[in-house]
Amino acid sequence: MQTQMLINGRLETGTGESLAVYDPATGAEIARIAEAGPEQVARAVRAAEAAFAGWARTTPKDRAAVLLQIADRVEAHAEELARLESRNCGKPFPAALNDEIPAIADVFRFFAGAARTLNGSAAAEYLPGHTSMIRRDPVGVIASIAPWNYPLMMAAWKMAPALAAGNCLVLKPSEITPLTALRFFELIADLLPAGVVNVLFGRGGTVGEPLVNADPVRMISLTGSVATGKKMLDVAARTLKRTHLELGGKAPVIIFDDADIQAAVEGIRTFGYYNAGQDCTAACRVYVQDKAYEKFVAELTAAVSTIKTGTQDEDGVEMGPLVSQAHQQRVAEFIERVRGVGHMEITTGGAVGEGGYFYRPTVVAGATQSDEIVRKEVFGPVVSVSRFSDVDQAIAFANDSDYGLASSVWTPDIGKAMRVSAELQYGCTWVNTHFMLCSEMPHGGVKQSGYGKDMSMYGLEDYTTIRHIMIKH
Ligand code: NAD
Repeated sequence: MQTQMLINGRLETGTGESLAVYDPATGAEIARIAEAGPEQVARAVRAAEAAFAGWARTTPKDRAAVLLQIADRVEAHAEELARLESRNCGKPFPAALNDEIPAIADVFRFFAGAARTLNGSAAAEYLPGHTSMIRRDPVGVIASIAPWNYPLMMAAWKMAPALAAGNCLVLKPSEITPLTALRFFELIADLLPAGVVNVLFGRGGTVGEPLVNADPVRMISLTGSVATGKKMLDVAARTLKRTHLELGGKAPVIIFDDADIQAAVEGIRTFGYYNAGQDCTAACRVYVQDKAYEKFVAELTAAVSTIKTGTQDEDGVEMGPLVSQAHQQRVAEFIERVRGVGHMEITTGGAVGEGGYFYRPTVVAGATQSDEIVRKEVFGPVVSVSRFSDVDQAIAFANDSDYGLASSVWTPDIGKAMRVSAELQYGCTWVNTHFMLCSEMPHGGVKQSGYGKDMSMYGLEDYTTIRHIMIKH
């Protein structure tokens, strides 16, 4: 089990407090890892700063070659990385192996190609006797802070565009799920000059804070909660560091009377409970038009009650446990507060499961706009279902949220789908599906879901700075 960090091209044991890492399916301790000490955080940042001078001057072709090698290495170690990810997160092994690992390899390959097409603008004369051009240069040292729901994939979403654009980085994975990132950095250390990538283990308060506050860090890239995003903005307010924030979500799903109800039920069963609902785009806030409402609730309840929960390697398992005991308790408390409200009904689930940190797939029907279950991110296997009567009300309900990450509309009426998608205040709207992502398209939110894009050419641009060069003839 990899328990060391990568600092300036060398593996090191942390000098700070030792923390336990658990298997959420059993609650068993699977590793003990020492946090980075303050001197190690400072040294990782200095290593990235020193490496930047050389890495920023490599050609896009050179950087692309490295990214392609990283993708190959991910695939060569697919089984090992997927095994580690599923053990540490509790997710079904096939999901880690068949969904996440290929997406991780693909994002490195996408940014390998993207690196070679990123350019500024050609020269032009805007003032007589002067030629102007635009350069796109890397930002510098990036502090990349990743969450626990898709630990290696979120790290890859940060690392691939940052490296493609010529930046150096210090990554801090979540202290709850560090195992794949630590192993991954060990696996790729020989592909990059020392210091270009560094990984530190530790908690947000002890390691994350000194990292993001360190002087040489020019940009903070966080995927995490809104609360942590606001803390990053406090740092930025003092230092003017650039921030890139992928925060929480509470995705609305609008299902019209004319929708294919069976397809919508199937969609919510899959995309509301994938990764035990621990997904910022999870289809968790469903609005169903009046006429279809009763049928939908009955069919969703029946479908969700068949979701097979279990440990990582159980045959046919669809959903694993929540990531930690604290999170299991948080989800359970949300549902206890639902129980006290008369107009809502828990039609299935609503209880912790056996063994590790399981929570049963849950449907809450009859929720209204003012209910906490509609307003706050649960980040668990819980879907609320509410009614709406017409297009305007559906749009109003969906937009009545602090979040703005992802949304979906279900109807065969393309005109209605286009109108609703245009009016939804979300970074992404899917029509007759939910959750699908690809490396070519941007992922990121509006409102309190943050700003900045992961993946796509827009994501690459986020990791660059634009400079104007003017030449007097
Ligand atoms: P979190 O905010 O608690 O932690 C995220 C990371 O930030 C962790 O590595 C943590 O150690 C670190 N951190 C915490 N405080 C810090 C500080 N003061 N300074 C520096 N680093 C600090 O979030 P989480 O519980 O790990 O992840 C779940 C959240 O992430 C959810 O809200 C979810 O919606 C969000 N998320 C968003 C996206 C997206 O693309 N928008 C994707 C996945 C998860």
